Amino acid sequence: MRAVLLGPPGAGKGTQAVKLVEKYGVPQISTGDIFRANIKEGTELGKKAQEYTNSGRLVPDELVVELVKDRLMQDDCKNGYLLDGFPRTIFQAEELDKFLAEQGQKLDAVINFDIEGEVLIERLTGRRLCKDCGASYHIKFSPPKKEGVCDRCGGALEQRKDDTRETATDRLKVYEESTAPLIGYYSKTGALKNFDADQDKDVVFAEIVAEIGE
Ligand code: ADP
Ligand code: AMP
Repeated sequence: MRAVLLGPPGAGKGTQAVKLVEKYGVPQISTGDIFRANIKEGTELGKKAQEYTNSGRLVPDELVVELVKDRLMQDDCKNGYLLDGFPRTIFQAEELDKFLAEQGQKLDAVINFDIEGEVLIERLTGRRLCKDCGASYHIKFSPPKKEGVCDRCGGALEQRKDDTRETATDRLKVYEESTAPLIGYYSKTGALKNFDADQDKDVVFAEIVAEIGE
């Protein structure tokens, strides 16, 4: 299965990706995760991306597109993948289309997470990630058993730099301006599937599976 997870920051793309990876056995390709890993390691890419990710602006298209194409050429993507956080601009979507056409492939689904408003700010500001294994929590909606400690590995939970109220608000504006137009773009291709993402995460997952198939 080749699918794009489309939706505003905090919509639940990463949360659903974890469950979809397990169900369909294809990797999650999160451009945000790739940037954060590079920033942590201090690579050249990380140095270039940092100022953008910290302030909630988009990393320039030319840095993102080549990175994703290289990643999709790797062996584990042969049977499909879930793109999480890419494409985020019409240009990126067009480049992905060109790449897929060159490979003789197409997207099976664009899973659109339909949700807006204050709930997104609440989800983003309450999100916590394990600094060791990356597991994701929410202080109210999905809390760990022990505050500040990862259930899975015992690592410390931390907040993303861009999950402050101010930067989250800016990211939602960037989404509306640059990424929301992709809903129109993909509705024309017939691949777009809409889901109400303002529901319990297990309900969202069940609806996605019902649409995509077992
Ligand atoms: P995205 O990857 O789209 O930015 P995440 O999957 O990281 O969003 O979710 C953002 C936050 O909201 C996380 O803390 C997550 O635990 C929480 N969350 C995700 N889905 C739901 C849901 N359906 N209901 C309540 N909270 C959710
Ligand atoms: P995310 O983890 O998807 O919320 O992404 C975190 C940040 O990484 C974004 O706010 C951007 O700065 C950057 N980023 C991730 N994916 C992309 C993309 N496809 N295009 C441009 N910037 C991106």
